[in-house]
Amino acid sequence: MTDTAAPTGPTAVSASTPVADAHRDLRDRLVAAGRLVPTGVDGIYGRDEMFESVVAGFDRLVSAAGADADPTRVEYPPMIPKVNFDRIGYLRNFPELVGPIFSFVGDAAAHRGVLDRLDAGDDYSDLLTQSELALTPACCYSVYPSVGPRIAKGGRTFETCGYCFRHEPSVDPMRLQAFRQREHIRVATPDEVLAWRDRWLERAPELLSSLGLDVVSDVANDPFFGRAGRLMKMSQREQQLKIEFLVDVYGPEHRTACSSINYHQDHFGHLFDITTADGETAHSSCIGFGFERATVAMFQRHGMDTAGWPSNVRDRLGLG
Ligand code: AMP
Ligand code: ZN
Repeated sequence: MTDTAAPTGPTAVSASTPVADAHRDLRDRLVAAGRLVPTGVDGIYGRDEMFESVVAGFDRLVSAAGADADPTRVEYPPMIPKVNFDRIGYLRNFPELVGPIFSFVGDAAAHRGVLDRLDAGDDYSDLLTQSELALTPACCYSVYPSVGPRIAKGGRTFETCGYCFRHEPSVDPMRLQAFRQREHIRVATPDEVLAWRDRWLERAPELLSSLGLDVVSDVANDPFFGRAGRLMKMSQREQQLKIEFLVDVYGPEHRTACSSINYHQDHFGHLFDITTADGETAHSSCIGFGFERATVAMFQRHGMDTAGWPSNVRDRLGLG
């Protein structure tokens, strides 16, 4: 979640810096071409058939790149139980991005109170009740809770795909509030996890460059919140726990991550009581590819109509 991209968040994007202008310009071109359909909220778009044909081709490539590990494929809805969300610590680390789900629980009188506020155009959020769910910010979070308690020798490999939510409204079409990821996930001994990660450190940039994207790998710098967050940030960098594959969409100084690989060490193993065959706490790593990011990057790179894209890229994506 990182990026070296431009400043984010509602205040930053409204500033009229050249990068913010470049964000707006790319967004406007995608909308004018019909690739993105605005909804009135920044970071929430409809996508047309052409955009989705690129997403589908990219998804196939990401899936195929990990097929040699014969992963267990599993799909989840785009929300996770609040207990898991809380346990993972997302609210602690990234409070401004969270998406807890609220609903109405009450009688007719309480409902009339909500409607009075609704009709008056007033805020009614304090009359809603938090549900047992939160929108998932990363699709691998659905996987870890059900992996334990003990995994067989050789560990487990998973693959999952789904919508993620992060509350980061922006005019930058590379930074959405709802986006899709495909993730490959390894849960095993430290050596097994690191060997798996090493293979992806090569494959991920290869995959993105094969689509004509200009990719650089770098150690990530997630925007952990607050004072405690500064420590997390430092140790993430020092231990090189997260590597990102950054593409050049707004110039080499403002690269954006289209994919990232995270080594969690025993974090999820501890949280969800997962042990390896030898009884040690399991380690884990995941690599996520952002569909919309990669797709927007390709439209920026090759033009707003796939008909004009280089034939090798069209072939790779199965565009015919
Ligand atoms: P992260 O968990 O932040 O490393 O994100 C994994 C991948 O999801 C990134 O490499 C991006 O491809 C994608 N991604 C993350 N945040 C966003 C966002 N706000 N909009 C679109 N894609 C995103
Ligand atoms: Zn993940």
